[in-house]
Amino acid sequence: MSAGAAADRPHAAAEIVRVCRRLYDRGLVAGPDGNVSARLDDGSILVTPSGASKGEIGAADLVRVDCDGARLDAAGAPSSELRMHLRIYRRRADVRAIVHAHPPTATGFAVAGESFVAPVLPEVILQMGEVPLVPYATPGTDALADLVEPFLERHDGFLMANHGATTLGPTLETALQRMESLEHAARIILSARLLGRVNTLSAAEVLALHDPRKDAR
Ligand SMILES: [Zn+2]
Repeated sequence: MSAGAAADRPHAAAEIVRVCRRLYDRGLVAGPDGNVSARLDDGSILVTPSGASKGEIGAADLVRVDCDGARLDAAGAPSSELRMHLRIYRRRADVRAIVHAHPPTATGFAVAGESFVAPVLPEVILQMGEVPLVPYATPGTDALADLVEPFLERHDGFLMANHGATTLGPTLETALQRMESLEHAARIILSARLLGRVNTLSAAEVLALHDPRKDAR
């Protein structure tokens, strides 16, 4: 890996900037909250810088690091949550993009100590299956990365206790859509609770989602 590599950097940088604006515009982060990264073709990682507002970030602000977190070609400091991103990329060869945000309603569930493991909404089940709750650890620490790791084998999105949410994907667009879907689902489930009842799908109904030819009985 050399500093001159990463021919796909411009495209990834434009995508990260677009995702950051969308997170900010939709209220999924406030100011410098959250972080977004992408794995480039040469294995290096492009990540948002520490402390920058996601509503104002530009392509030149992004920081490229190697798989151990060493800076390759930018002056700024990478996101404080880089350790978690590196751990996810190390553990999941299929993941090319990570979105970490503090979506207000989904984070409310995480503050209340709840996960999204009950099958309620088809689109969430299809997009990322169960969304577990990762126990709390201080943001930005190896301890948090350690707690996230056991969930990575089976999950593409997770809530983080008293903190926020993280979604993964093969592309930035997929990771973003999973984050948006997670927050949207949280709002719907909260509404259903206010109405007094959350009905869950049966096992057969969940199975039928994965194979539409099969009747849900
Ligand atoms: Zn955070």
